[in-house]
Formats: sequence, C-alpha cells, structure tokens
Amino acid sequence: MSDSGVCGGVRVQEMQVVRRRPRVRGCVAACAAGEAGVESRLAMVGEFVTDGVYRLGTVWVGWYVIVDESVTVVDCGFPGYHDQLPNALAEVGRSLDAVSAVVLTHYHSDHVGAAERIRSETGATVYVPTGDAEGVRTGKVPMPGGMASSLWRPRMVRYMAHAARNEGAKVRPVAEFRTYQDGEVLTGASGLRVVHTPGHTAGHCALLLEPAGVLFAGDALATFDFFGGPAGPRLVRFNEDARQARESLSRLEPLDATVIAVGHGSPFRGTPAAAVAAARVASG
Ligand SMILES: [Zn+2]
Repeated sequence: MSDSGVCGGVRVQEMQVVRRRPRVRGCVAACAAGEAGVESRLAMVGEFVTDGVYRLGTVWVGWYVIVDESVTVVDCGFPGYHDQLPNALAEVGRSLDAVSAVVLTHYHSDHVGAAERIRSETGATVYVPTGDAEGVRTGKVPMPGGMASSLWRPRMVRYMAHAARNEGAKVRPVAEFRTYQDGEVLTGASGLRVVHTPGHTAGHCALLLEPAGVLFAGDALATFDFFGGPAGPRLVRFNEDARQARESLSRLEPLDATVIAVGHGSPFRGTPAAAVAAARVASG
C-alpha cells in the first residue's frame, strides 16, 4: 500500500505469518522455546511457497525470496523488515552476499522497503518497472486513490501504525537501478518474465517465475482485505486507476502458474484464471 509512519522493529505478534507450510529448517528450536519462542522464531524464517521460493513479511505485507544458484528478492516489504532477509537466508544456508537481484513490482514504500540498503550491502542489481522509475528514484509518490478517506477504518488504523513502526513513512529512494518493461525476461533475476499490470500504479508489473509455476502479482491482486473482509483473491482497495486495475486482471488470467504470491495476504494456491475469477466476484 502506501506511505505512512516511522521507525521500529517488526513486532512479534504481527509476524505470525498466516498458516505455516513445510519450510526451511528451524522448527525444532522454535518449538522447544515454547509459544512465544515459536512466534519469535517464525518471524525470522521464510514461509514455504514452493521449492526454492519463500515468503517473508507479516500478515500485512509479503515479500519473497527465490533461491537458486543465486538469490533474487521480489519486493522488499517495509524498511523495518530488512533483517528478515539475512535470517531467512541463513536458514537455507545462504548469506546476504548471495543476493544478486532485487526486483520491485512498483514504487510504494511497502514494496521498495530497504531495497537501497540491500543493494548497498550486497551489490545486487535493483530492477524497477519503467513506469514507476521516477518514484523509486525520488521517493516521491502519490497516495493511491481511496486511501486517505479510508484511514478511519479499524484495520487501516492498525496497518498504518504497523507501517509507522517499520519505517514506512516514506519511500526510500534507490540510488542505482535498471528499469524493466513488459515482456522482458530478467535473465539476471531468476528469469522472471515481466507482465505489465497498470492500475494500482501506472508502472506496476507482475512477475512470472515460469519453471516454478509462481506468479508474483504484487498489488495487482491481493488475498487480504484492508477493510476487514474475508481472505481470498480480490483487487487491492486502493488504486491510482481502478478501472485499469480491473482491466489488468485480464493480463494475469491466461498465465501459466499454480501459486500466486501477492503483496498483501497469503499465497493463493491455484491458477491465475481461478484467482482472477474469484477476484472479479469479490471486488464486484
Ligand atoms: Zn502498493
């Protein structure tokens, strides 16, 4: 989503990322540490999405790691989520040094996160959609439509507080990046194929990891409702161009994938066609 807040670490109760799946090592120590320990531990490892793909983040915001010969990061969550990355990589026997690419779906602060810090720590190439490049370079981005008038809602109040604690007040500009565009295959970033899905932002892109059957939908789809509705595929509530966001569902619909990893909510296990059908119903 958008801008808000200041400072702090990620709180344990916010880190209990959805239902856990088989995942990377570490459960034994977590279980031995008791419930508080489990929550704390879960905060530090990735949730299994599929082989070599893990979800980091919280119930509010997800970001992803693709582990192959090197490591590609897809979106970065809030800046305060940074430490999840080295901790999760340690669980799969890698270090930050292995990160060679950071691919951003769009320019909002809960997706750009600590991209600049990760870039400077690892030398990774940051990939930014052409249409959102200026926002990533300057950190100046508009609040998506409908957000300001929704801030009174209880879940939004909690989200904005969470954003504040995780340094999400402003987009942290990225000093160096390369741009990408529709149809490109990012050979330096696990071979992600780019699908331009404008609407949430003008430049927004989804990314398809074809061999693994994973579609990273960014905020072109969500499974979490900021207004407190049930979990499941839907359009994000806040879009720069709502009509265009709805039309972009048609770009996702024919893609070949079995898991859809979203910026907000748990991964959806099903095809893009099924997710889009459900989103059209849920989003009226
Ligand atoms: Zn967004």
